[in-house]
Amino acid sequence: MDLFEYQARDIFEKHGVPVLGGVVATTPEEARAGAEKLGGGTVVVKAQVKIGGRGKAGGVKLAHSPEEAAQKASEILGMDIKGHTVHRVMIAAGAQIAEEYYFSVLLDRANRNYLAMCSVEGGVEIEELAVERPEALAKVAVDPAVGIDAAKAAEIVEAAGFEADVKDKVAEAIQKLWTVFSEEDATLVEVNPLVKTEQGDIIALDGKVTLDANADFRHPEHAELEDSAATDPLEAKAKEHDLNYVKLDGEVGIIGNGAGLVMSTLDVVAYAGEDHGGVKPANFLDIGGGANAQVMAAGLDVILNDDQVKSVFVNVFGGITACDEVAKGIVGALEILGDEASKPLVVRLDGNSVEKGRAILAEANHPLVTLAETMDGGADKAAELANA
Ligand code: GDP
Ligand code: MN
Repeated sequence: MDLFEYQARDIFEKHGVPVLGGVVATTPEEARAGAEKLGGGTVVVKAQVKIGGRGKAGGVKLAHSPEEAAQKASEILGMDIKGHTVHRVMIAAGAQIAEEYYFSVLLDRANRNYLAMCSVEGGVEIEELAVERPEALAKVAVDPAVGIDAAKAAEIVEAAGFEADVKDKVAEAIQKLWTVFSEEDATLVEVNPLVKTEQGDIIALDGKVTLDANADFRHPEHAELEDSAATDPLEAKAKEHDLNYVKLDGEVGIIGNGAGLVMSTLDVVAYAGEDHGGVKPANFLDIGGGANAQVMAAGLDVILNDDQVKSVFVNVFGGITACDEVAKGIVGALEILGDEASKPLVVRLDGNSVEKGRAILAEANHPLVTLAETMDGGADKAAELANA
């Protein structure tokens, strides 16, 4: 999960990284109040979007009074920055910048290691610097077992070529940023720019943090950082029901049990779709073992609410969950959903108690349900119905 700059700022502060005051605002009025709270002097109004290059796009503006902060906020709120609408701004205490540096530490997957990158030429787009003047960007491998201790920080600062007067302060800030990376289970911590002020202080003026979702169980507090407004509503609904659901871009809704079976179902449907107008799977949905009528109803409810879905393929291999339970689940789900269920369902059952399962569906004789004998046959039928 990528964090907003203001969230990164708060986490930096928590771990002792030097930052300036910052207040989030969603309206010009809040921006004015925020600027007053920061002392009424010069502030920077910064668009909070999870994309770089806000400065160039006009999303970072100086304001010399609370009045002007409100004015700048009204200009920035609602702005579109590379496809991201600005819903919040951060009012940040203004800094008098003498120098702009760059620092990041990230998970280096290719080398199965961590990597620190640092430059005395920060503030600019680092991708450009890396291409045009690679010698200006120091890259230092970081041993995960040791991290960035005083010795490693000194090595990074040396490699980047900092002037003697700031070396110690930068090294100290870098060690704190490592604490953020390590203790928050991040895969990226980037500061651009890390600045030296006219007063000679080192401050993290912008922050980009990516948290590792695999470590969420260690950080219940990270759940609050999620941007619920940006989550796909269908994915949010699926999550509420503990369903393993991923929205895709096709027309054939998929329900199966077991991740492996669902994955192969996606392949088979995509393949069958080539003969039916190029229709594709609309989602991944694994209802797991022990699927009862409620779970099936919740899954169908999510899929049928996807406007892109034209047909649904239910592909279940009875194991611990017997096919008659799944069939009862489907019949029950269609009863629960009533008129909301309006798209054709192709059902393929196999494995434990398959005969009983098929008998239950045949008995119910629901007009939307077609029984398929095989997985390939079911995929073909579902693709055909989606293309009808
Ligand atoms: P980005 O363009 O999305 O990376 O946004 P940044 O937060 O990095 O801001 C872009 C640029 O705005 C920085 O490189 C600085 O030059 C400038 N800037 C940001 N905050 C301040 C500030 O407090 N004072 C001054 N004078 N300039 C700032
Ligand atoms: Mn920046």
